[in-house]
Amino acid sequence: MIFWIRLKNFTDNKKRYIRIEEKWQNYFYIASDNISKLEQLVQNDEILSSISSYEFVKRSETITDTKKSTVLKLCIFGKNLKLANTIEKMNGYQDFRLYNVDLIPEQKYFFDHDIFPLGLFEVTDDDNSGLLWKSKSDSVGFTDYHLPYFKKIHIKLNFPKGKIIKSTDELNSISIVQYNYSNSINKNKIHIIDLSDKSEKKLLKELIKIVHDIDPDFIFTEDGDSFTFPYLIHRAEINKIDLCLSRDNDISLTKPERKGNSFFSYGRTYFKPSTIKLFGRIHIDKSNTFTIRTGSDLEGLFEISRLCRIPLHEGSRASIGRCLTSLHLYNATKRELLIPWKPTLFEHPKNMIELFLADRGGLILEPEIGLHEKIAEFDFVSLYPNIMLKRNVSAETILCDCCFDNPKFRVPELNYHICNKKGLIPEALEIVLDKRLRYKNLKNKTSDPVLQDIYDKRQSALKWILVTSFGYLGFSNAKFGRIDAHIAVCAFARDILSHTMHIAEDMNFDVLHGIVDSIWVKKKNNTAKDDYFKLKETIKKETDFDISFEGVYKWIAFLPSEINTHLPVLNRYFGVFEDGTIKTRGIETRRHDTPPFLVQCQNEILELLAKGNSIKDIKHDKLSLIIKKIKKYLSLLKYRKIDTENLIFTKLLSKDYNQYNNRNTVENSAIKQLELNGEYVKAGQVLQYIIIDYNGPLLKRVVPIQLLNNKTNYYDIKKYSELLIDSCNTLLKPFGIIFDQNQSVWRLDNYY
Ligand SMILES: [Zn+2]
Repeated sequence: MIFWIRLKNFTDNKKRYIRIEEKWQNYFYIASDNISKLEQLVQNDEILSSISSYEFVKRSETITDTKKSTVLKLCIFGKNLKLANTIEKMNGYQDFRLYNVDLIPEQKYFFDHDIFPLGLFEVTDDDNSGLLWKSKSDSVGFTDYHLPYFKKIHIKLNFPKGKIIKSTDELNSISIVQYNYSNSINKNKIHIIDLSDKSEKKLLKELIKIVHDIDPDFIFTEDGDSFTFPYLIHRAEINKIDLCLSRDNDISLTKPERKGNSFFSYGRTYFKPSTIKLFGRIHIDKSNTFTIRTGSDLEGLFEISRLCRIPLHEGSRASIGRCLTSLHLYNATKRELLIPWKPTLFEHPKNMIELFLADRGGLILEPEIGLHEKIAEFDFVSLYPNIMLKRNVSAETILCDCCFDNPKFRVPELNYHICNKKGLIPEALEIVLDKRLRYKNLKNKTSDPVLQDIYDKRQSALKWILVTSFGYLGFSNAKFGRIDAHIAVCAFARDILSHTMHIAEDMNFDVLHGIVDSIWVKKKNNTAKDDYFKLKETIKKETDFDISFEGVYKWIAFLPSEINTHLPVLNRYFGVFEDGTIKTRGIETRRHDTPPFLVQCQNEILELLAKGNSIKDIKHDKLSLIIKKIKKYLSLLKYRKIDTENLIFTKLLSKDYNQYNNRNTVENSAIKQLELNGEYVKAGQVLQYIIIDYNGPLLKRVVPIQLLNNKTNYYDIKKYSELLIDSCNTLLKPFGIIFDQNQSVWRLDNYY
């Protein structure tokens, strides 16, 4: 194990860090119904030759076990998987159950030594027992931890536009963007070094020298895993140069063994290229990160790495689900609970009535479609994770073997009993819920904009963990997931929401819409404003769950639900709060595949609508302005005044390039053209294109952005105009008018 440690106190800038090596042995566990089988295993010569030592230890084998059992711990040489596979296969998979196989070594080390990335520790090298880590008053629970200033650069390769770059193309130009000392990206002063007009060999040598001289902690790339680094590695090989960009100087970069893989999550397919790691520095690939793309930037990554005890390279690329899993695994390790290699999902068999009750999901009351005025919205604060915490919902607590008569918690509708002992999942969630609340309070208390920004990024990273936690409870690949626990949370949520609606009705409100964790209500008579606060307090007191009063809408339009290609959008609305804040769900501006100019036009119309204080006001005053605006946009399109980058569609591919049929679709048009130019797109990759001739032949319908050049300005005016009008009509229809393709305005008597 190699550690790169930033020193707290250093005098010479060149010696900001030290490198420490420790001899450490990877390990995993084996359990068997027959202990003599385990004893025989360590007599086997083949096994003995691939392990350094073994011992018999006491561990809990499954999350529901109340007693620990004796298992075999093997300390191994080399890769885990090979030996694990051999052992698992023995005697037709009958003898052994394997645990803690697929945890990465760094995670095991962090868990076993109770340390975490970016923590403040005193480390001493003890010859006999390895490194000794002592916390210097730091803990993952702290919100005011101090991080060192990190040096950051961004490496960018420059190529002519409109051509797909292959590894055989020579490199002519590199830009190195150097950010000055500051962890907050926005505050960075930057310095750009441009390298060009040199032979490729000189260019590469200079890049290596500059990286060495600057000695950055972080190197950013736009697509370092899939392109920049593999390409640089190839060009360096051709020029017979060792591409040493790591802090460990004698390690040059090499191509990864695997090319990457596509995976499926939450109804979407993603593609992940293999990670290219640097040694002693962190490589952040901006196109291969979940944490940084969601706007939580480095502060979010730091928070997640510390809290979930996940290394920075892994953390930046891991899905939030993997980060959450790491937190579960840490808590399991603390309990001496083994982590199944291949999770076995245990499910309580359900009868028809239970299935019916269980599958109702989160929808309680469908909205009254159309326009409404003076509607108030209330949202429960992290309802699902709070249910898991407060009702102790976890894989092992639902229908436990010990608390059949527990009257304290019964799952509503299903009447399942819940264990009295705190569950693993609630235990792991507690710190996340608690820290997020503390960050939100800190953000509200401080007037320092830099701190506000940091706290906000950290709380939003934690929010993603909370959002994911519920899905993982029933996820079949989760180590400690269980569908019954997932169903229990849904049942509690429905119960809380319907209770909330009754409270609102009792307090003289009409409930117009209720879904998942939100309700929209309207006062029956014109009563005082503090009625809303009374309602909020009453709901909190009676349900035991905190709810926030989001505000009162001047007006809101609930739209019919839409079934799109990925997932049905149950919640579609747009409205404006009394303070002028616009809120939208499920309409074009919220979708990631909409071209930017459509989003811009829709947003501008929303801003015009937001100025209207009532539906009457809008119908009288604003609609003519809006029609004018639509006409302006249509004429911009007509005279080709829209930049091509604002016309780009962005689609996530669900299949590999060769799995698409030959139908004449716009996606196929882009995929085929890329294929002809030697780029083979994979499921989970992003496809971006502009429409050139929507009704044209297959290869002429669109241009993929990789092939865009300055000459490509022949976008399809008619198709883009149609799309623009459609998205404007989403906003106009509730106000009783529709704008057609001939630019005429029609009144709708009763559209919905
Ligand atoms: Zn129990």
